[in-house]
Amino acid sequence: NPFKNQEEQQQQESATSTNTTTSIFQKEYYDVCIIGAGLSGSVIANQYSSLLQKTSLILEKRNHIGGNCYDYKDPDTNILVNKYGAHLFHTQYTRVWEYIQHFSHWTPYEHRVLGFIHDKHVPIPVNIDTVNALFELNISSTEEMNAWLKQEQVHFENDPVNSEEMAKSRVGERLYDMIFKPYTIKQWAKTPMELGPEVTARIPVRNDWDDRYFPGDVFQALPSEGYTKIFENMILNDALIETHLNVDYFDVRQELVEKNMCGHTFFSGPIDAYFSQEGYEKLEYRSLEFERKVIQDIGEEKTYLPASVVNYPSAEYNFTRIVEYKHYLEQKSPHTVLFYETSNDGGEPYYPVPNKRNQDLYKKYQAMALKEPNVTFVGRLANYKYFNMDQSILNALELFDQHAPRVVVKLDC
Ligand code: UDP
Repeated sequence: NPFKNQEEQQQQESATSTNTTTSIFQKEYYDVCIIGAGLSGSVIANQYSSLLQKTSLILEKRNHIGGNCYDYKDPDTNILVNKYGAHLFHTQYTRVWEYIQHFSHWTPYEHRVLGFIHDKHVPIPVNIDTVNALFELNISSTEEMNAWLKQEQVHFENDPVNSEEMAKSRVGERLYDMIFKPYTIKQWAKTPMELGPEVTARIPVRNDWDDRYFPGDVFQALPSEGYTKIFENMILNDALIETHLNVDYFDVRQELVEKNMCGHTFFSGPIDAYFSQEGYEKLEYRSLEFERKVIQDIGEEKTYLPASVVNYPSAEYNFTRIVEYKHYLEQKSPHTVLFYETSNDGGEPYYPVPNKRNQDLYKKYQAMALKEPNVTFVGRLANYKYFNMDQSILNALELFDQHAPRVVVKLDC
């Protein structure tokens, strides 16, 4: 069994972590120092090692590798669950798809989400079935759906400038009120009007019966042995990569700088945390919280919900969605486990909050970042962008290319 339960995992992790006052580092110099053992940092370390045989030091504040992709076996049900919410891999980038084949076998999986609205489970994104169920209609062709959408959609003079306009221009006022407005307020503690259009632009609208959540992406799959295993394959058991868990970079930055230990640094943490001593205001991040509920003896093959993710847009519920991981990878267990997701401002930073105030402030940080010698800022938190997993991987691969361009052999023929 490649997955340890969480306790075993943590014991092993604390054995490899350290908090002594003498230097914790095994080498005097690393070609690259990487802050964060999430997707961005792990891809970069792996590239430096596998393609250039260069050494990396990875410092991770948490007690596990994998960043927000980290998964583990739930101790009561033995079901593989993501600690930081469901992660469904999807991409249109062939480069990313080919790259990730090196680290895992992938099980094809197309994600589908249902919304619980007016006591019915309906597909999200909105498609013909959603409209028929919610408005008791009988639309039976894409032409009819196009006509229905046309009469619902709100037309704006210019491109949508916020998430309210984006959603209304796609699904109209009524579906906006049922699906987008209350959910977005719960998720972001802001009205959709206060958020950039890119937030609700993530959810398309269909004029057919396609009920996939990511209809535009040709590659959709789950890692057959989970995400944590991918990170183990990327960065552990590699003599060129030294990983420390439970180490806050800011506690050791002085030592690294004074002893000139890093050839180059890649920072994947929050960009405002990097410059915290400069006294600028803080960027806003939205965080998630998960309430776990085990349902005993439901039956080996049985699930509680009709889909792995059910969204609860209505303000009647304080949570935004429930995730049931048993749906993924055909997992078997006599029990099941549900995670109720709510949002808050306080915890681990998950989502950058795209509004004008934050984007303007980010630009100031970005200008400072560009001047920071020998440091590159990588990933969702450092770029203050709502990256999906594939975008994080692509961003890391491209940054690696810029810093360590591979020799291109030209053939004369
Ligand atoms: N959204 C919504 N209702 C839904 C699903 C999504 O209003 O039923 C909005 C909400 O603002 C959310 C955004 O669309 O933050 C993006 O949704 P997605 O499911 O991509 O969010 P993620 O899975 O990244 O949290």
